[in-house]
Amino acid sequence: MTQRHLETPVEMSTIVSLAKRRGFVFPASEIYGGIGSTWDYGPLGVELKRNIKEAWWRSMVYERDDIVGLDSAIIQAPQVWVASGHAEGFADPLVECPSCHKRYRADQIDDPSKCPDDGAELSEPRMFNLMFKTHVGPVEEDAAQVWLRPETAQGIFINFDNVLTATRMKLPFGIAQIGKSFRNEITTGNFIFRTREFEQMEMEFFVKPGEDEKWFEYWVKARFDWLVGLGVRPEKLRLRVHEQKELAHYAKAATDVEYEFPFGWGEVEGIANRTDFDLSAHEAASGKSLKYFDQELNEHYWPYVVEPAIGVDRVAAVLMVDAYDEEEVGGEKRVVLRFHPDVAPIKVAVLPLSRNEKLVPKAREVHAIVRKEFPSSYDDAQSIGRRYRRQDETGTPLCVTVDFETVESDDAVTIRNRDTMEQVRVPVAELADRLREQLRAMGSRV
Ligand code: ATP
Repeated sequence: MTQRHLETPVEMSTIVSLAKRRGFVFPASEIYGGIGSTWDYGPLGVELKRNIKEAWWRSMVYERDDIVGLDSAIIQAPQVWVASGHAEGFADPLVECPSCHKRYRADQIDDPSKCPDDGAELSEPRMFNLMFKTHVGPVEEDAAQVWLRPETAQGIFINFDNVLTATRMKLPFGIAQIGKSFRNEITTGNFIFRTREFEQMEMEFFVKPGEDEKWFEYWVKARFDWLVGLGVRPEKLRLRVHEQKELAHYAKAATDVEYEFPFGWGEVEGIANRTDFDLSAHEAASGKSLKYFDQELNEHYWPYVVEPAIGVDRVAAVLMVDAYDEEEVGGEKRVVLRFHPDVAPIKVAVLPLSRNEKLVPKAREVHAIVRKEFPSSYDDAQSIGRRYRRQDETGTPLCVTVDFETVESDDAVTIRNRDTMEQVRVPVAELADRLREQLRAMGSRV
């Protein structure tokens, strides 16, 4: 595990500004003044998100025999959301200040009767439905009204029988999905932690009723370990068991994996025991059987469902905060994102010592070798020291430097390690192997 040096927790504003400066995350619609709590992912941010999704998909689908994937539509028939209970129950308590007109989620403020801003008495809470409404087709009439999905899970439940028929899966088995979800949150904020448009990675694991509690425990542990496997410090993670009164309308039990952000502990992932709530509700509403036929018992029944649900954007926030480090090197501050190599946006940067006309073509040649195997970049602007710092600040695990000896004598290059700052000289012919070895030594599994 990588040793970190920064003693005080990083401020959220430091992460937000680094994210913008280096091209991870930009405020959306910025040239028009922004659209509040909406963010766009830049060249490095998009790589970070792809790596998170790839790691999740690998652990859920590719490395297991009992989970298959799905990619269902964002807009489904409105009946889906009526049957699932979202049309009626997917709401948060909204309170409003009559004097400053600010709105709050009653369950997110200390005293839901007083405005946290000016102390005025807040309105009585009213339930505010979080689903975004829109219309399909050219006529904005009630019959054409649909919702944008607030979770990807329902797309899985309504395809339960399709997947079962197509794959002949046997219980216990799961269906995994990654995609955008939309929630008209009353209050957003804390950077990309809570937004109205976000990406979710959800897996519905169908089990025999009675085996649900065992699987629930299994997934709580597996999901905690997954975050640790991405390099997140375990002491910054904790499990929080939901009390009965805070359980969602569909859940029998729920546990959150929380991370200690600079603004406090926040949910990163929720694991819920959804029982047979969804399958039975869709069967009742659609009239189509969504039961499983258990050949051993010669019985039809609704499986129970254990769901781990996590947000890509929240994981991105966790990884940036958790990886952030500062140390002093040679009297200067060095900022490093100590990303696990599997999530680092760029794995290898190729840097000629200078823009010399002998070095550049050789460095391009070396980059051509490196990029075949590793997401990589090439940079020849500014001094080599500054370029190392730039790569440190975006979390690139390895830099490869091409110098005069490379072209004049040894056809070898230097690999510099982000964490140890150690440099080793390796022949160009062995470069790919040596890069792979170093990334593995830093924890890479790919
Ligand atoms: P909260 O209580 O924070 O509103 P929730 O319990 O409603 O969240 P879930 O329905 O369990 O959230 O959603 C599963 C996961 O999806 C969350 O753990 C989180 O990672 C992500 N997620 C949910 N809402 C948002 C949002 N508004 N912005 C970003 N990610 C979100």
